[in-house]
Amino acid sequence: MAKTAIVTGGSSGIGRAVAIELLRRGVDVTIADISGAESAARELGCSGARVDVTDATAVEDLVRGLKADRGRLDFMFNNAGIAVAGRTDELTLDHWNRMLDVNLRGVVHGVHAAYPIMVEQGFGYIVNTASLAGLIPAPLMLPYTTTKYAVVGLSLALRVEAAAHGVKVSAICPGFVDTPLLDHANPGLPQTEIGRLARTIGVRVQKRLYPADAVARDVIRGMEHDQALIVVPSFARRAWSLVRL
Ligand code: NAD
Repeated sequence: MAKTAIVTGGSSGIGRAVAIELLRRGVDVTIADISGAESAARELGCSGARVDVTDATAVEDLVRGLKADRGRLDFMFNNAGIAVAGRTDELTLDHWNRMLDVNLRGVVHGVHAAYPIMVEQGFGYIVNTASLAGLIPAPLMLPYTTTKYAVVGLSLALRVEAAAHGVKVSAICPGFVDTPLLDHANPGLPQTEIGRLARTIGVRVQKRLYPADAVARDVIRGMEHDQALIVVPSFARRAWSLVRL
């Protein structure tokens, strides 16, 4: 029986690249995304479901449905996410709530649905997509930074508890990756303003973007080594050296 995986946010960017790597390894992948899941699934030759990760029942139904259908759930990638950039004094509560709903509650819903099944099976691997912004504060992205620190904390605490049940947990912390994510973050905010404010706290904004397929290969390697935090290596060394807080 093939191993199975659910990849949330799997229609695009990092999720799509991870889905491709898993399919190459013979994993039975289901892409779950609020948009483009069916067409991406057709293109990649896997299953797809339109699921909004902010909807706990929809996530639960997807996870339980897969377990009932295929008999096992091996990998749960809680990866769907959005970004908002902007001066904190100009952000609305709606910006904050949207970020908490998708980036944090979305991960909580995935964990809440998948973890008990994995404990019962005695195996499984939960991978949550955080960010370098979950280890290093991202200027002008306060709600984003808040959710990603939370995802790192959740993942590391669960990892300790889960090990006793044969379940593995990791968080991935990529730097700037070449995906549509940041295009939607705040088109009105000039890059120069982000760069200027970033410099005031001693962080330089990285211009070079890491390709999503390289991130996906790092993720698979990190999982093979059961790394707690899977940090894109070439960028991480540089990013750490930039922090002057
Ligand atoms: P992306 O925009 O290419 O992909 C995100 C996917 O999530 C999209 O397909 C989108 O439709 C989906 N999505 C958004 N809201 C959803 C919801 N409510 N329910 C279900 N699906 C939803 O961006 P990406 O860069 O591949 O982002 C994937 C993850 O990687 C995010 O969690 C992001 O925060 C994280 N990340 C990205 C970068 C980067 O520089 N791109 C860096 C670090 C971390």
